[in-house]
Amino acid sequence: MRSGLRYLMCSPTHYEVDYIINPWMEGNVHRSSREEAARQWEGLHKILDELADVQLVEPAPGWPDMVFTANAGLVLDKNVVLSRFFHPERQGEEPHFREWFEAQGYVVCELPTKIAFEGAGDALLDREGRWLWAGYGFRSSLESHPYLAKYLDIEVLSLRLVDERFYHLDTCFCPLSDGYLLYYPPAFDDTSNRLIESRVSPDKRLVVGEVDAVNFACNAVNVERTVIVNQVTPGLAARLASCNFAVRETPLSEFLKAGGAAKCLTLRLTEPRTVEMPQVQVATRNVEMQGHLLDSALMTEVIDLILKGGASFQILDFKVGQRRQDTSYTRLQVTAPTAETLESVLTQLIDRGAVLAEEAVRDAELQAATQDGVAPQDFFVTSIYPTEVRLGGRWVVVAHQRMDGAIVVEPETGTARCALLRDIKAGERVVTGVEGIRTRHQKALPDREREEFSFMASGVSSERRVELVVEQVAWQLRRLRTQGGKAVVVAGPVVIHTGGGAHLANLIREGYVQALLGGNAIAVHDIEQAFHGTSLGVDLQRGVVIQGGHRHHLKTINLIRRCGSIAAAVEQGVLHSGIFYECVKAGVPFSLAGSIRDDGPLPDTEMDLIQAQTDYARLIEGADLILMLSSMLHSIGVGNMTPAGVKLVCVDINPAVVTKLADRGSVESVGVVTDVGLFLSLLVRQLHYLDH
Ligand code: NAD
Repeated sequence: MRSGLRYLMCSPTHYEVDYIINPWMEGNVHRSSREEAARQWEGLHKILDELADVQLVEPAPGWPDMVFTANAGLVLDKNVVLSRFFHPERQGEEPHFREWFEAQGYVVCELPTKIAFEGAGDALLDREGRWLWAGYGFRSSLESHPYLAKYLDIEVLSLRLVDERFYHLDTCFCPLSDGYLLYYPPAFDDTSNRLIESRVSPDKRLVVGEVDAVNFACNAVNVERTVIVNQVTPGLAARLASCNFAVRETPLSEFLKAGGAAKCLTLRLTEPRTVEMPQVQVATRNVEMQGHLLDSALMTEVIDLILKGGASFQILDFKVGQRRQDTSYTRLQVTAPTAETLESVLTQLIDRGAVLAEEAVRDAELQAATQDGVAPQDFFVTSIYPTEVRLGGRWVVVAHQRMDGAIVVEPETGTARCALLRDIKAGERVVTGVEGIRTRHQKALPDREREEFSFMASGVSSERRVELVVEQVAWQLRRLRTQGGKAVVVAGPVVIHTGGGAHLANLIREGYVQALLGGNAIAVHDIEQAFHGTSLGVDLQRGVVIQGGHRHHLKTINLIRRCGSIAAAVEQGVLHSGIFYECVKAGVPFSLAGSIRDDGPLPDTEMDLIQAQTDYARLIEGADLILMLSSMLHSIGVGNMTPAGVKLVCVDINPAVVTKLADRGSVESVGVVTDVGLFLSLLVRQLHYLDH
């Protein structure tokens, strides 16, 4: 019995796989049989004709995909939003479909030229008429969704497609009568899956597996309680039957070669609309960026971030710098399905130096903390880059910049500072959201030969570059010593095991180091060496294990504990040499942070980690250069609290550690994969060479 519904189809007279615009077409160019395709199309037409009124549009030669009428446009009542095909290969279909709709008396709505939208292939009405599900990610752009909401006066729910085999929403998603939904969740990102789950109750969700998905089970035509489909597994057929749906299979293999099946071959012209719902628009903001966007690959990074973050973009303006030293400028429109997604993407863009476009710039939003040690949930998380916030129409530099903090504002003084969560007090005003915040993120041009730290291009140096790095670090250390700058060393016990202790002691004695950061181990091993000539019981001169030598370690700890502190041991004439001896003698401050591995610990080791972090931060303040020597734990800690602009040199034998530490996206960090003992000996030799 006929349902009274109307559908549009187009005979496959000119159908063929002529080009490749989706993964299904690969390997199938000119491999489909026109006779078989015609037979299969007739089969579908016959079934649909029994159930509904099928109208036909004249196929146009040269447009082989016109057979897929789902992509003609999206119809609701007497309105049609015409498709704007993403690929030029299909754009020639547009006038033919427009002509048909106009001849039928439809009100034809057309999207702005740059906004792609592929009709009912990417926009499916809930069968109860409550809202429109709209897909984006491969063909239709997210920017088309607000237009759909406006033209059709309906709520639009945006779903992001992530598997290119399911490039149109109707390839993996099929709303059915009575609020049921047939769909393949892996084709969507997490946010979209959550949205689907929030709108469709579990008993109405018919999840299909990959086998049904690749047989286009979701590309089904649903006419009341009938589901017309290429093929389904017996399991899915049984589940559909248990929900009172009769499955009618009809082979469509020739069309699968082009990435389409039953639903793609039809366009429903009578769509339900039973409930008036408020429109929901997607969230959009414009951002601007200036810098070496192309040379430093920042533009690619930003686009990647937008897409991975579940948003989409349009380039509104792009001015490329003419000469190598010129910067480029871009203005981007970033669109996301929800305000939360947009905010999370914008936060990352701000970290990369983007600014919300001028007309949208407002003062930073402030919220009072309601609890000690807890920020408002929407607080802006800081990065290593110098940050400014807009307060009362004025840009204010955030003091004590570091990553992973919050920004606390004092409205009375108009100042802002980075604060760790634990340091926030109830009542303090904390920056939230993304308004009125900007960072200075200057990515380097590759090969900046004029830069004094020319090797420091955030890269990992290979062995053969070690000597070059040593020369540059030596040059920097001498310069800082002359100018009264500040060099900080972070070091682990490997420095002692590899025979680097004497070299580091030498650097301290000669005034190249202004602060030393480490843990219990480096101090114990250094002092053990001073007392016994061993490190963890190994004779460093001869490289052999000393009988009973492991006791040296604990005897050392015990002796320093008896003295009261390392400084006391020096004053009492107990400790005569080594790194820490030189620190005490030269008045170089040090901080030893405790860990669960520590023996003893030494009286100087700070086992209150919050206090240790505070001590580290105090000693890092104002540093020009930080040398990180073979201590993953402490170096990562230091990296997290160091703002951009401080030169970091990380020396470690493990390339993974070096990459992690050196890859801060800032120009000033460099990694050196080498033995730390060798590095220190070369460094001292180079400094002596320059001095004499
Ligand atoms: P870590 O694992 O954090 O770092 C050691 C780093 O040294 C690694 O990244 C490793 O790749 C690198 N490395 C190894 N050999 C190297 C070489 N020849 N040249 C260059 N790099 C090399 O360990 P850590 O910083 O030594 O110690 C972590 C914590 O444990 C610290 O707090 C430390 O004080 C404590 N600890 C205590 C004791 C003790 O009290 N007895 C002993 C060892 C460690």
